[in-house]
Amino acid sequence: MTETIKDAVARRRTFAIIAHPDAGKTTLTEKLLLFGGAIQLAGEVKAKKDRMNTRSDWMKIERERGISVVTSVMTFEYGDNVFNLLDTPGHEDFADDTYRTLSAVDSAVMVIDAAKGIEPRTLKLFEVCRLRDIPIVTFVNKMDREARNTFEILDEIEAKLALDTAPMTWPVGQGRTFSGTYHLPTNSVRKGDDEMERTPVNGPDSNRVAGLLPLNEQEAFIEELELAREACKPFDRQAFLEGHLTPVYFGSALRNFGVRDLIEALGAFAPPPRDQEADSRVVHATEPEMSAFVFKIQANMDPNHRDRIAFVRVCSGELKRGMKAKLVRTGKQMSLTAPQFFFARSRITADEAYAGDVVGIPNHGTLRIGDTLTEGEEILFRGVPNFAPEILRRVRLGDPMKAKKLKEALQQMAEEGVVQLFQPEDGSPAIVGVVGALQLDVLKERLAAEYGLPVDFEIARFTVCRWIDADSPAELDRFIDSHRGDIARDLDGDPVFLAQHGFGLNYEADRWKQITFTAIKDYQ
Ligand code: GDP
Repeated sequence: MTETIKDAVARRRTFAIIAHPDAGKTTLTEKLLLFGGAIQLAGEVKAKKDRMNTRSDWMKIERERGISVVTSVMTFEYGDNVFNLLDTPGHEDFADDTYRTLSAVDSAVMVIDAAKGIEPRTLKLFEVCRLRDIPIVTFVNKMDREARNTFEILDEIEAKLALDTAPMTWPVGQGRTFSGTYHLPTNSVRKGDDEMERTPVNGPDSNRVAGLLPLNEQEAFIEELELAREACKPFDRQAFLEGHLTPVYFGSALRNFGVRDLIEALGAFAPPPRDQEADSRVVHATEPEMSAFVFKIQANMDPNHRDRIAFVRVCSGELKRGMKAKLVRTGKQMSLTAPQFFFARSRITADEAYAGDVVGIPNHGTLRIGDTLTEGEEILFRGVPNFAPEILRRVRLGDPMKAKKLKEALQQMAEEGVVQLFQPEDGSPAIVGVVGALQLDVLKERLAAEYGLPVDFEIARFTVCRWIDADSPAELDRFIDSHRGDIARDLDGDPVFLAQHGFGLNYEADRWKQITFTAIKDYQ
């Protein structure tokens, strides 16, 4: 029997993991996939040969620097749920990639190192989630090592994030004696490792709990748990969905403790695919007609073919293999002949995908970040953000004969979101903008490896870039006309104002009150 759209949507969970580097995001991801196993939706998917181990050369950067540059997408199944886990780059130089990814999730897991608490990058990513009203489940990791006191960890989350906490599990033991988790709402325990089921117990003083703890820790555990019950807030799903409260789980990704607790929590109360706001209306996840948006492009995953994979999040309906979809930006039809699901190291052709699913669509440059696909309706999804670059450079080409090729290559890199590209109005050479310096390294490496274009970067005269707009088009034109040398157009043709420094920007903003200068632009 084929599943209805409503049922398919109800069981999907699309989430990201946010963490400071080293907190254990990679380890936890591996364990989620291990417990989840590869997705096998009977009749829906067809295995395809594993091709992803042949990764392209430019990913050398990633390996050499020991960082994850690329946002990958992994689908797995656990119980009745289908999970789409969107991985985000750990390095802050790729922050804009992370923010775009967060525009495609419905919830996030915040991983905290139990000894370190809230670290700077956790805080920053949390703030992005809060802006987008993304509900957060907290996983306190590394409980098998010396950790802070459990109440202290909860206090720190509350104080630093201004977020209520509801501990759902309590660690049984800590450090060397960490041996499982006690589930507060149901009074049940689960020993770590691979124990599938929780065992119901009468309370923290039960023999089963005692059996998990050394003698001298038993009394303290009972007292702690009683205090936790009295002092901590109970879980309130509404408050969680609204982003005011985070349920907290304790575990050790390395030793498989608490990982099942976490997956089950996501299945039980993380939100199913949301309704998605478009320019003219709200699209409901269970509507019959397919709609989707592109939030990431990844190129040359297979160096033998110049393939470009656009990652789309399905927002409604059924995305079926072979269907025709309308690319709203151009009005053209495209065939979705080979949409793909991604796993840890393999991809398989997807026959059907539903709201919340993230599928890769191979294409040769037709799709751009922020694009909307529909079955014909003229709607545009918003909310995939573009951040004003913090570093602006001109690209210097060794061989002037290749200027045209460079132009094309830069255009493609910009469409993929590797860098942003700005074309000055005065006809001077293009300027590339990035949020983090490592993006320039990626650009350089890719231009050399994929296009045979060795380049260097020159400092541009500008350091600040802002999108400009005004209620009155005439006023905007007047501003543009009187600042020709400092105006450029982005990939969509939208104007930006380039300033030599923040002071220059403030000066102009003071003089031109009707012009708005913005640092974030939603893709359209
Ligand atoms: P990421 O940078 O957040 O992806 O962190 P990793 O998953 O790469 O983990 C960083 C380091 O912490 C690695 O050496 C892991 O083996 C270790 N680690 C991760 N989870 C745990 C855990 O639960 N307990 C302990 N003791 N080490 C862990």
